[in-house]
Amino acid sequence: MASYEVIVIGAGVVGTSVAWHLVELGAKGVLVLDRTQVGAGTTAQSSGILRTHYSVVENVELARRSWKIFDRFAEVLGDEDASAGLVKCGYLIAAPQGPKLEALRASLASQQAMGIPLQLLSPAEASAKLPICRFDDAALIGFEPEAGFADAYLVATSFARAARRRGVKIVEGVEVQQLLLQSGKVAGVATSQGRFDAPVVISVQNIWATDIQRWTGITTPVTAERHTVLALEGPEPYSYAMPVYKDLGSPGMLYCRSYGGRQMLVSEGAAGQTLAAPDNEQGDVPMDVVAELGAQVAERFPSYETAGLASSWTGVYDVTPDWNPVLGALPEVPGLVVGFGFSGHGFKLSPAVGRVLAQTALGLPTDVPLAPYALERFRSGRLLSGRYGSGAVS
Ligand SMILES: Cc1cc2nc3c(=O)[nH]c(=O)nc-3n(C[C@H](O)[C@H](O)[C@H](O)COP(=O)(O)OP(=O)(O)OC[C@H]3O[C@@H](n4cnc5c(N)ncnc54)[C@H](O)[C@@H]3O)c2cc1C
Repeated sequence: MASYEVIVIGAGVVGTSVAWHLVELGAKGVLVLDRTQVGAGTTAQSSGILRTHYSVVENVELARRSWKIFDRFAEVLGDEDASAGLVKCGYLIAAPQGPKLEALRASLASQQAMGIPLQLLSPAEASAKLPICRFDDAALIGFEPEAGFADAYLVATSFARAARRRGVKIVEGVEVQQLLLQSGKVAGVATSQGRFDAPVVISVQNIWATDIQRWTGITTPVTAERHTVLALEGPEPYSYAMPVYKDLGSPGMLYCRSYGGRQMLVSEGAAGQTLAAPDNEQGDVPMDVVAELGAQVAERFPSYETAGLASSWTGVYDVTPDWNPVLGALPEVPGLVVGFGFSGHGFKLSPAVGRVLAQTALGLPTDVPLAPYALERFRSGRLLSGRYGSGAVS
C-alpha cells in the first residue's frame, strides 16, 4: 500500500494533462493509473482538430485557453522535445441557406465579441484558401486563422513525459477496480495491483466513466458511440496549407482536413453507432457507409468523385445527452473529481480542462466557472445545449 496526494484514473490526453497541471500547480505525490497505456484509449483515435468555434460560449473560452497552450506547447511544458504536431492551417466553416445558418451567424458573432481572430469570407476568398472545395451555395463562411489540427497521441505522451520528469508516477497496465471510501469520503482506489491511498481521486476515464456509477451509485449519463473516419486519396491533394473545413450544409455535418499533406481525412459530426457497453476496439467499416460518406464528399469536393479509399478506421466518443462534458467535483462524494463526456470534441479542450480539474482537486479557484458543466444539470434540466443540435460541433 502507498499513499499519494492525488490519484488520477486514466492516462488519455485529459488524464496526462491533469497530471502535468497538478505538478505545475505544486502538487507532490501524484499517481496516474491506466489499464492499458498512455494515450491508448480513445485519444489514439482522435482526428485532432483544434478550433475555438463553438456555439456554447463556455466551450469557446476553454478552447481559447487550450489553443494558447497548443500554440507554444514545448515552451509551456518546459520540454524542448515536446510536440503537439500542430499544423496551423486555420479552420473554415460554411453554411448554405437553411437550418444551420442562424446558428453559425450567432456563433461567429459571439466569437468576435470575445475578441477571437475571425474573418468572414466571400465564396471567392474561401475558394482561394481551399480550391478543391465548392462554395457557390454558401450563405455565410467564417475563417479562424488561429486553428488547425494536431496529434492527440503526441500531446498525451508529451504531457506524460513532462509530468514524469517532474515526479509524477504513471503506471500502465493497472486496472482500477473500486473507489475506496471512508466515512463517505474518498480514501483511495483498489486495483489489479493492490490498494493505493489518496484523499483525492480524479476520474478521467472517458467511455469507461460508467465505472463511477458502479462504484458510487451516482448516475453517469455517458454513452459509447462509434464513428467512422476515412482517408481519401483524390486527384487533387488536400495539402497542409489548406484549412480544416466544416460543412454545415451536408447531412452528416462533415469535417475534413489534410492527412499526411496529400490525402483527405473526413468524418461526420453527427450521431454515430451507439454501443451497448464501453469498447474502443476497431469496428467494421461497411462499404455502404464508405459509399454514403464518399457521396457527401463528392457533393462538396467535385474532383473527389473519383477519389480512392486509402484507409479507414473507427473511434468511439463518450457522449452525454447535451454533447458536452461533465467537469468538476461530485459533491455527493467528497474527494472525487470527474472529467468525462467530451462527446467527440475533448482534444481541443484538454489543456484547459486538465488545468481546471487540477485546480479543483487542489482546492484552488478555477480559471473558468465549472457550474455550467456540473453533473447536476442532467437532473435539473439546465442542459448545456448548443445551437447546432446533437453533434460534436456543440
Ligand atoms: C474518431 C474520433 C475523432 C475525434 N476528433 C476530435 C477532434 O477532431 N477534435 C477534438 O477536440 N476531439 C476529437 N475527438 C475527441 C477526443 O479525441 C477525446 O475527447 C479525447 O481524446 C479523450 O481523451 P480522454 O483522456 O478523456 O480519454 P481516453 O483517451 O479514452 O483515456 C481514458 C483512459 O482511461 C483508462 N481507464 C478507463 N477506466 C479505467 C480503469 N478502471 N482503470 C484504469 N484505467 C482506466 C483507459 O484505459 C484510457 O486510456 C475525437 C474522438 C474520436 C474517437
